[in-house]
Amino acid sequence: LRGSKAARVMPFGPNSLTRVIAVTSGKGGVGKSTITANLAVELAGRGLSVGIVDADVHGFSIPGLLGLTDAAAAAGAITRPTQVGDMILPPIAHGVKVISIGMFVEPGASSAVAWRGPMLHRTITQFLTDVYFGDLDVLLLDLPPGTGDVAISIGQILPHADVLVVTTPQPAAADVAERSGIVARQTGQRVMGVVENMAGLVQQDGTVLSLFGEGGGAEVARRLSEGDVPPVPLLASVPISVPLRTGGDTGLPVVLSDPADPASVAIRSIADRV
Ligand code: ADP
Repeated sequence: LRGSKAARVMPFGPNSLTRVIAVTSGKGGVGKSTITANLAVELAGRGLSVGIVDADVHGFSIPGLLGLTDAAAAAGAITRPTQVGDMILPPIAHGVKVISIGMFVEPGASSAVAWRGPMLHRTITQFLTDVYFGDLDVLLLDLPPGTGDVAISIGQILPHADVLVVTTPQPAAADVAERSGIVARQTGQRVMGVVENMAGLVQQDGTVLSLFGEGGGAEVARRLSEGDVPPVPLLASVPISVPLRTGGDTGLPVVLSDPADPASVAIRSIADRV
């Protein structure tokens, strides 16, 4: 893949120049994949070479969020990996190289993937070693929610990865988000920051409706900053946004479809800190 067997073992190991960012959350449905997809597209739009490994093997959603769908394939787009010699080339969506278990599931087939720890570990390792990403500036990993097998595997395979914790403003979400940050740290990774998603919905009269409460992001950042560790900043508070949601549904991320939307502005402020 990269000429030498040693490089093939782990192109994103500690000596690589690629910034590796693992995006994690305590629980599902907080917008982790949506943030990952938008952040990747935003960084690619800034001229960086960007890849995503969709490590949410059971709940993969990155291909759909980036428009790598069966419908796009039917229209002639390359939406699945291509094999060239012994290389697996990832498809490219909005300038981002993407690999996901969803691309290895038969079109139209049930997309349930029921694998246990060792199989998950092997799959993630293969994504990182056998897929040819070339020289990336940034590799984003969309982790499954929680502190399970994959999060621990990533800690072992990529101990130098930075971790981005996504949470909602709810105190209960903050508790579980904090745990995912702590597990990352236990496996040697650095928590680079917290993103609060689904923050207040700006209504037509300008008032803000805090549908999911307030303060969860700041609370997680505060707790993860306790003790003898570098301070963990709250990088952004991404509001509830209909354009962001429809962007995910249509495969055209909001940072491209509606750059003036407050969610896009917030996501750009995360990219500023990468
Ligand atoms: P996770 O990866 O944490 O499971 P997703 O990124 O799949 O979460 O998001 C879950 C759902 O919430 C999706 O339907 C997505 O479009 C929606 N969503 C995420 N963030 C927002 C937001 N800021 N405003 C509105 N909808 C959102």
